[in-house]
Amino acid sequence: MTDHHDAGRAPAQDADGEAPADGSDGSSVDASVIGPGERSPAVRQIAGWLAAQGLLPAGRGSDHDDDRYDDAVAEAVRAFQQQRGLRADGLVDRHTYQTLEGARWTLGGRVLHHRLEHPYAGDDVVALQRRLAELGFDVGRCDGTFAGRTELALRDFQRNYGLTPDGTAGPATVRALSRLDRTAGRGAASSHELREAEALRRRGPALAGKRVVLDPGHGGEDDGHTGHGLVEREVVADLASRLEGRLSAAGAAAYLTHGPDRCPSDLERARFANETDADLLVSLHCDGHASARPAGVAVYYFGTGPDNGSVPGERLAGLIQREVVARCGLDDARTHPTTWELLRRTRMPAVHVELGYLTNPRDAELLGQDAFLDSAAEAIVVAVQRVFLPEDQDPTTGVLDLSALASLPR
Ligand SMILES: [Zn+2]
Repeated sequence: MTDHHDAGRAPAQDADGEAPADGSDGSSVDASVIGPGERSPAVRQIAGWLAAQGLLPAGRGSDHDDDRYDDAVAEAVRAFQQQRGLRADGLVDRHTYQTLEGARWTLGGRVLHHRLEHPYAGDDVVALQRRLAELGFDVGRCDGTFAGRTELALRDFQRNYGLTPDGTAGPATVRALSRLDRTAGRGAASSHELREAEALRRRGPALAGKRVVLDPGHGGEDDGHTGHGLVEREVVADLASRLEGRLSAAGAAAYLTHGPDRCPSDLERARFANETDADLLVSLHCDGHASARPAGVAVYYFGTGPDNGSVPGERLAGLIQREVVARCGLDDARTHPTTWELLRRTRMPAVHVELGYLTNPRDAELLGQDAFLDSAAEAIVVAVQRVFLPEDQDPTTGVLDLSALASLPR
């Protein structure tokens, strides 16, 4: 061992997980093999890595006296080499050194990007490549080295999911990957569903230019539910016009499925939304029940079971639900998957909102107030906006101000 090698592999330089800028990282081990009998800081570092892998007792490598390549180290190196399919000779050559170095990392533990000199290598890179490959991005072989092809695949992924396509696996990208991991594990999150989610994100974050179809649930001869002097047809028509005004003010195009004198079938409403090439559909209702007790807001999206539905539909439903509960004071009657015709026949994410019960005295009192309908309209517009925001720009529920929407990046 030379001083040069020892200096380049001193543990202190590795503390932040970055190779030293002068390039004196593991690659400087080229010419040498570390083996039995050697005493050096590099041995202490190797012992620490082996301990982290559970191959040496915990704490080994932390003490100044742990710098000797004894039988226990040789045995642990051999075990590691066997695990990783390396030649199990108990000697740390360049390849074993790099594999040991990379084994410490789990995805998210450091920021990965394409580095021409000394590319990132390790278990975190393997995890990144596997996730990208599972999602259909072409990374080539999952070889654990972050090179040009991994970068291109990562940029493709970021572009498709509305993240900044910088080719860097930072916190927002890793969060998006793990979120999709949960999504992809669900039976219904087919590639079609993921594409539907992608299509939304690709439309960009600004509400301006989006096409939102509003569907007043009743009209013409059809009053819907009634209670406490209120008629569902009138309440939802009022809410629709408040929504229409706010969406238009934010630059979105709002379309109503029908005027107040008509009540088209669900199929006609779905056709209208499809022909309008809408980004989203929001159907507006109030509920009613024979008992006065049921209360609260519920939102329905297309799906056949709790983990078996439209991913973007469920997301829009969840956002509307949470914003309405946070801003309007209605009880939380949750979101639910359903196969109702309007939701089934629409090609875009679509939700059916039941904004409180006209048959419940407290809900009805709220529904009769202008201020309540205003905040319900705001809650729905904010939720619609949030659907288009990438994960790293999505604000906390209840805080996004409508007046701030215009300043969001296009
Ligand atoms: Zn209704």
